[in-house]
Amino acid sequence: MYTFRQLAWFFRRYWKRYSLGIFLLLLINLLMLIPPRLIGDAVDHMRMGTLTPRLLTQMMAILLGLGLLFYVLRFLWRHLLIGGALTLEKILRQRFFTHLTRMTPSFYQRRRTGDVMAVATNDIPAIELTAGEGVLTLVDSLFMTLLVLSTMVLTIDWKLTLAALLPMPFLAWATAYYGRLLHERFYLAQEAFGRMNDHIQESISGMRVLRAFVQEEKDVEAFRQVSEQTLRRNVDVAKVEALFEPTIAVIINFSFLIGLGYGSWLVFTSQISLGDLVAFNLYLGLLIWPMFAFGYLMNIVQRGSASLKRLQEILNETPDVQDQPGALASVEPGGIEAAGLTFRYPGSERPALRDISFSLQRGETLGIVGRTGSGKSTLCRLFLHQYPLPERTLYVSGKPIEAYSLSALRRMIAYVPQEHLLFSRTIRDNVAFSNKSAAEQEILHALALAEMTEDIARFPHGLDTMVGEKGVTLSGGQKQRISIARALLADAEILILDDSLSAVDARTEESILGHLRRERAGKTTIIAAHRLSAVQHADEILVLDEGRIVERGTHHELMAQDGWYAEQYRRQQLEQLVIGAEGGGSR
Ligand code: ATP
Ligand code: MG
Repeated sequence: MYTFRQLAWFFRRYWKRYSLGIFLLLLINLLMLIPPRLIGDAVDHMRMGTLTPRLLTQMMAILLGLGLLFYVLRFLWRHLLIGGALTLEKILRQRFFTHLTRMTPSFYQRRRTGDVMAVATNDIPAIELTAGEGVLTLVDSLFMTLLVLSTMVLTIDWKLTLAALLPMPFLAWATAYYGRLLHERFYLAQEAFGRMNDHIQESISGMRVLRAFVQEEKDVEAFRQVSEQTLRRNVDVAKVEALFEPTIAVIINFSFLIGLGYGSWLVFTSQISLGDLVAFNLYLGLLIWPMFAFGYLMNIVQRGSASLKRLQEILNETPDVQDQPGALASVEPGGIEAAGLTFRYPGSERPALRDISFSLQRGETLGIVGRTGSGKSTLCRLFLHQYPLPERTLYVSGKPIEAYSLSALRRMIAYVPQEHLLFSRTIRDNVAFSNKSAAEQEILHALALAEMTEDIARFPHGLDTMVGEKGVTLSGGQKQRISIARALLADAEILILDDSLSAVDARTEESILGHLRRERAGKTTIIAAHRLSAVQHADEILVLDEGRIVERGTHHELMAQDGWYAEQYRRQQLEQLVIGAEGGGSR
């Protein structure tokens, strides 16, 4: 009943709907007691020869009327209870999704996407079942049993009732035993389903890579194993379920046996009438459903609680970065500063950044360069406060970033991540994502700044061309430039470009950078790059190596230092010359 208690908030919120639904169920249960009595009476009348055609017609009319009434009442309670349960499903899914949007990257690193999706698609419906059929079977099994038993005791014979109930303790034991087994197995089965889901999700999104490396067969084989395991675990669940019904049937048959044997003796010794015996057996028949319902209830509740556990595990996770009490709701425009910033990714031993210090006035540009894996992206990400970081190490406008609310901080920053993410929508929607109310003119302007105008003109539907699965497939450089346009449209105080010009040729890069300098005069820009030409104009350039600043200064100062930067710059210039001689790069 733990599951029901966990859902108490929901039943309280929809108490009217549930009270009415349960009232109707009770009414049906009460009315169901009438037909057996009626038939028992008919038998007695027959035996005594007092059954007149008039009486018989009356009885039949009542039976018919009841039948019709059941039809209406059953529709109504279903509508109320199942409708309520579907509402619960919607609420839970909404809550789940909202929770997911609050989680930080470390959550997504720990949890596999497919498994998280399985909770939404598979576990939430299992909980929904508890709130619908679970309530039905709870009411039916408890109330109906009580009602039928008391009718038997009061109107027929208490000794006969007691005797027929002798096998029932076995039923209680069996359901408890199977229930526990079911809970464990269902949890494992849902887990396996989550893994399978994750496999499918990864394979689909990685299909190109799979094909390119001719790994399809291996992947199919790996999938066969996961689905095999899912199958085995579901069969384990089915086995327990399959035992439920026969067990209940056997126990009920024992009851019938006792009822018939002992009951006949009671009729024989005239302690009850023949009609009573008939009615008694019909009442026993009425007990079959509540008994099954009880077993089914255990089944549903165990599934529900296993699924609820999986859902709660995710809902109970708190994001590792949260607004502090009294967090500032807005950020004054100002400079950026890092003071001895050392940072480890959660769960990682080695710091990804060590002792980083710099100071940037408002309106200046910071360049971050260094070998691959040196920590450029990490530094960019930290400004967004996606990871917990040591207090008082990173400042915006003179205040440590943990003093600001996350939404204020993120409104202040436009970020183009190294891995571009475009949605399967139109180009217009993708760009306007950062500023929903932007006019067409502004969107076109942002795209022009990102040097996308010509490309757009070539697309079949211009701005309204669909991107991705259902539309044009964009080149890496086009994706990058659309991402840049999206960030530029936000017109944020701080712009962070994480290697966002890597897939465009040198000339395009130069003109985008030129636009940036003009458009963003007075605003702060951070550029991480492999190609040093992208940071050449920066007010300060940091050269990172293994998370440390190994060289720093302006382009000229760095060239004068004649270290990694200078060497790298000369090499890249040379490469550019060679490419130039070959007739230009690709866009
Ligand atoms: P690239 O030039 O290839 O983009 P980068 O300079 O941007 O490299 P980062 O992505 O910042 O390098 O990575 C710096 C270090 O942090 C690497 O050693 C990397 O393995 C580690 N790292 C990056 N992301 C994570 C993460 N989410 N969790 C743990 N470690 C990470
Ligand atoms: Mg990077």
